[in-house]
Amino acid sequence: MKIKSIPVGAFEVNCWILVNQRREAIIVDPGADAPLIEAWLQKMRLHVQGYLLTHGHMDHVSALATLVAKHPAPIRIHPADANWAFSSSNQMPPYYPAPTPPPEELLQADLVESTGNEMAGSLFNVLETPGHSPGSVCLHFINENTLFTGDTILAGSAGRTDFPGGSASDMKQSLKRLLSLPPKTVICSGHGPASTLEDEIQTNPFLQEFQTAK
Ligand SMILES: [Zn+2]
Ligand SMILES: [Zn+2]
Repeated sequence: MKIKSIPVGAFEVNCWILVNQRREAIIVDPGADAPLIEAWLQKMRLHVQGYLLTHGHMDHVSALATLVAKHPAPIRIHPADANWAFSSSNQMPPYYPAPTPPPEELLQADLVESTGNEMAGSLFNVLETPGHSPGSVCLHFINENTLFTGDTILAGSAGRTDFPGGSASDMKQSLKRLLSLPPKTVICSGHGPASTLEDEIQTNPFLQEFQTAK
């Protein structure tokens, strides 16, 4: 799979697009700027196979309804975020109104802890990593050696835990479990540049306490 990021919206969310040799695409976190994402899909003549959401925050899901209208495909999200992601509570004026709900028949609130998920011929594991939001997940694409982390871990940082449903203690456990992944794992997060797990272990202040504890 080739992996591309399109930074979208007021909070510059990384919309990740994974493309295989058959021009089939997986879209992770279509946060905003649907026309921008759509232009790329058109230009590359891609066939969207599915949408994966690292969590429900408005800046990660707001382009969904528009994209799905043109490129219908299953949308997967953790159940603990599915129940509010498309409600009026999930907005941040003036940047983001509440996200338009996608068609119910395409929304699957089943992105829970699991291994061996398949999409567009790629295998991925789902790691439940609550803390930033109750239904935050990290998506580990095995053959690509890549972890999509949403707002759980970011290069040099970690997601806030002071939003509704956030939990600092859950975040701590979630960050800790990421340390068991291969050090060379590429970290593709929800905001900012990509990194690797080994670089984060060396430099990310949010991981330091686990270092000394080891
Ligand atoms: Zn978030
Ligand atoms: Zn975010």
